[in-house]
Amino acid sequence: MVRVRFAPSPTGYIHIGNLRTALLNWLFAKQNNGTFLLRFDDTDAERSKAEFVEAIKDDLAWLGLTYDEMAFQSHRLNRYDEVRDQLITQGLLYPCYETSDELEKKRKVQRAQGKPPVYDRSALALSQEQRDMYEREGRKPHWRFLLSNEAIHFHDLIRGDVTLDSGSLSDPVLIRADGSYLYTLSSVVDDVDFGITHIIRGDDHVSNSAVQIEIFRALQAEAPSFAHHSMLVDEQGGPLSKRLGGLSIQNLRADGYEPGALLTYLAQLGHGEPVEISQDPIGLTEGFSLSRLSKAPARLFVSELDAINGKILSTTPFDSVAERLPNDPKMQEIWPIIRDNVTFLNDVEAWLSYFYGERDTVILDENLRQAAIDLLPEGPFDEQTWATWTGLIKSKTGLSGKSLFMPLRQALTGQSRGPEMAMLLPLLDRDLVLKRFEKA
Ligand code: GLU
Repeated sequence: MVRVRFAPSPTGYIHIGNLRTALLNWLFAKQNNGTFLLRFDDTDAERSKAEFVEAIKDDLAWLGLTYDEMAFQSHRLNRYDEVRDQLITQGLLYPCYETSDELEKKRKVQRAQGKPPVYDRSALALSQEQRDMYEREGRKPHWRFLLSNEAIHFHDLIRGDVTLDSGSLSDPVLIRADGSYLYTLSSVVDDVDFGITHIIRGDDHVSNSAVQIEIFRALQAEAPSFAHHSMLVDEQGGPLSKRLGGLSIQNLRADGYEPGALLTYLAQLGHGEPVEISQDPIGLTEGFSLSRLSKAPARLFVSELDAINGKILSTTPFDSVAERLPNDPKMQEIWPIIRDNVTFLNDVEAWLSYFYGERDTVILDENLRQAAIDLLPEGPFDEQTWATWTGLIKSKTGLSGKSLFMPLRQALTGQSRGPEMAMLLPLLDRDLVLKRFEKA
């Protein structure tokens, strides 16, 4: 039985990078009839905020990424206390009294000597007296986990076989001086207690995984399987700029992105084979496979995301977007005609001016302009009107093809491209059409 979790820290809004992690977990759960758990990593009481919890839940709801269970680490502190005591008894968790300044100094010296800045474990050598002395000075210990210094191997569902030397890592701090737990510990305790079978997260966590595998062992638990997906980068391969990386789902939503566009694009990104566009995340489960994801950083092209957004809108029925469209009596007829031509729903407003009011247009050929006015069929227009009208103009002026259609389109819409004229014309008032040609 597959059980996966998405584990955001509610210290901010989730952004497109977090969303990729959430989606990959969700798709994997759905493909395996598994359980998708939403877990808030909120042991940092100062930075975790209820408003971010709500915002993250809203974002997931908007995206259609439903979860089966929800948990808060802040509700499980007693359980972490138990595990803390167990690890201390096992001799695997030891108190350290260095201040951050002292640690920084040590690292500086190590770097100057050309050594990796790995914690030197001097706290392990402290006598009880020295500890007592620090305590009397008012120092509070932080607690580190004693790594084995062995090579750690695991099979990653995306990256293949991974080997890490825990000797090259510092013993991780699991408890801060204020007694709060770091996610490194609480995550493992939760993954064990909630029966998590697969940890799917960004490859910025690979060395965390090595550390956590040792903690799983210390707790006599089998480590879950791991899948570390690559990070999102910008078009040049650099870190995501503020433009999108900093862009929270909330901002992307406000910018007019459809949830299906974000999900589809993220499912396609770095995926070896095409994944079909879907408005609903469940539709993405079909062509998607975690193991087809590339290890290479995933380049995010805004233009591709936008194109998917446009494609999704081009097949979206009126009823699905009615509430978000401008209020206009003809909107229901207008939408199917213009939906092929909008990238974002916000573009619709600008298209409405096609149907009302005057436009600045230019017609260079006076014969054409006059013929268009004289031969305009009586209203009301229907889908045949355009063919009839342009046929008449063609016979009269001898113009055909592009030199006939383009100026007519421009005179009517002020644009060289746009919706099909045969569909558009029936939505225009006859007087308005005449006016546009008289003015052109
Ligand atoms: N709270 C961690 C993060 O957001 C979770 C990492 C994990 O999935 O284990 O990075």
